[in-house]
Amino acid sequence: MKPVLEINNTCISCDNCRLICPENAVLKNGDEYRIESWSCTLCQLCVEVCPIDCIKVVEVDSSDEFIN
Ligand code: SF4
Ligand code: SF4
Repeated sequence: MKPVLEINNTCISCDNCRLICPENAVLKNGDEYRIESWSCTLCQLCVEVCPIDCIKVVEVDSSDEFIN
């Protein structure tokens, strides 16, 4: 298991997380935001600036990454 950050569907697309991320790990597709786990360092700056606290640390089974 390893921790990754997930943005849940209550996101209001304020763009704060994307602007603050030092790794450019927050990707935006229209109004949908997601965090690219391989470039995210888990610094959690994005978590701090999210006004509605919708970015959560979740544990994923690392073997899931190879299932497509
Ligand atoms: S935890 Fe840090 S590196 Fe990861 S997406 Fe948030 S701001 Fe970017
Ligand atoms: S900071 Fe929070 S509400 Fe704003 S775009 Fe990022 S995840 Fe969505």
